[in-house]
Amino acid sequence: MYQVLARKYRPKIFDEIAGQDNIVQTLKNAVIHDRIAHAYIFSGTRGVGKTSIARILAKSINCENGPTINPCGVCSACVQIQNGSSVDVIEIDGASNTGVDAIRDLKENIIYLPQSFKYKIYIIDEVHMLSNSAFNALLKTLEEPPAHAKFIFATTELHKVPETILSRCQRFNFKRIPTDIIYRKLKEIAAAEDISVTDENLMIMASLADGSVRDSLTTFDTIISYFGKDIKEDVSPVLGLTVKATIIELIGAIFKKDYESSIRLAKEIYDSGADIRQFMKQLAFHIRNILMIKLKYKDMINDMTDEEINALIPLAEQKHSEELLDMIDILLNSDAKYQKISSPSLMLELTLFRLINIPSKHNVTELVNKIDKFISLKTNQAENTKIEGKTNKFNVNDGAALTPPAPAFDASFARMETPPKTGAPANTHADRQVKIAPKDNYNMSAASDELFAHWGKIDEKLAQENDGQETNALMDDGIKANEAEKIDESIIMESIKDIFGKDIERIDKTKK
Ligand SMILES: [Zn+2]
Repeated sequence: MYQVLARKYRPKIFDEIAGQDNIVQTLKNAVIHDRIAHAYIFSGTRGVGKTSIARILAKSINCENGPTINPCGVCSACVQIQNGSSVDVIEIDGASNTGVDAIRDLKENIIYLPQSFKYKIYIIDEVHMLSNSAFNALLKTLEEPPAHAKFIFATTELHKVPETILSRCQRFNFKRIPTDIIYRKLKEIAAAEDISVTDENLMIMASLADGSVRDSLTTFDTIISYFGKDIKEDVSPVLGLTVKATIIELIGAIFKKDYESSIRLAKEIYDSGADIRQFMKQLAFHIRNILMIKLKYKDMINDMTDEEINALIPLAEQKHSEELLDMIDILLNSDAKYQKISSPSLMLELTLFRLINIPSKHNVTELVNKIDKFISLKTNQAENTKIEGKTNKFNVNDGAALTPPAPAFDASFARMETPPKTGAPANTHADRQVKIAPKDNYNMSAASDELFAHWGKIDEKLAQENDGQETNALMDDGIKANEAEKIDESIIMESIKDIFGKDIERIDKTKK
């Protein structure tokens, strides 16, 4: 008879638990030093090992060779606990409506000594689902538990468990299992089951599981029953996902501002029956990964194989990190923005238009053209001097595709419309916290050359800063905008000081 993978590969000893090292170590120490608490509460999302660890702990305590961190697995205690037939290890499902009865039984029977083993162990799953009366009954026994009784509670919603219960338990918060650990687990199981499956497919299943080993194994079962033992073909469509190659092709088209290909691919994706909202999430995650590559946080990408990451590098070179951030923002907000649109394909198309139309952030050529236009206007007025165009002179390649200069000033450059007045720039920038001392015979053309040379340097410096950030691993979602802004600001201030000399000073608002 076929046994589902999640059951067959359920961990039987502590060392088989994946991704909960701290909890496992703490519990092992408790067993070794015979300091097992009378009540534990395990919280965390589904399928992260709460019940598995509860059973392993029960075996550790009750094993004939115990207490031991390596329960033998063959004594009657181990075998009975393993298959759930022990009368002394009682598993209660808080979510079922027998919860109240079970707690009533618990209250009546807990006083009696265990029948065959050393301890009576109550494992209550989804404990937050118990009714108030059940909690009250439980509380009484928790206040004065008999020496032969232990409790292990598990919950996916810790905040719903009354404080009076929590305060009597040792708490453990179970983490989501990192995708790469799930991936390795799936790879092991594939080898053990003699299943031939590509790394890319294993990665898709691992990342879809959202931190739950059990979910990943359930998905693997589905895929095995669909493909058999030879899983070479991309499994994405079977799981309602869009194949990665299509997503990468679409991102390429968006980056190139290729409307036609984008819309064609969007139609293909829609026609394939993909869930558009799920697809937008996939797209957002891919762009997030491109951003991680851009910021040199390759280690933060854990849902792609090395080959897949390498394929994204050329895309990372095409966009500035702020543009990528904007794109992720658009994708994550599109659901709310277009919720009134009943047509998912229209929602997708509108979102693509917005992604394609994100303004380039660091288009230096465009900026140079605008400044030059302004300078030639001013200097023509003052000295009637012709200034050569400097297009492409400072082609600082940030990766952004250089588009032709826009005909008019846009809002993002509005501040450039009022640079210091020639000859009398004192206090011009006071409202922007920067004071510029008067300078005789101030040469705007030379100043602009100098300024852009410095911007080139700033860009290099920022690139170096990004290189240096590799050691900074304290990132949650990989985005650290505030830190980057700080660096940016200080470097810009430094450069302004370099250009305008010491006469420039910050006006501290707190001082008079
Ligand atoms: Zn045993």
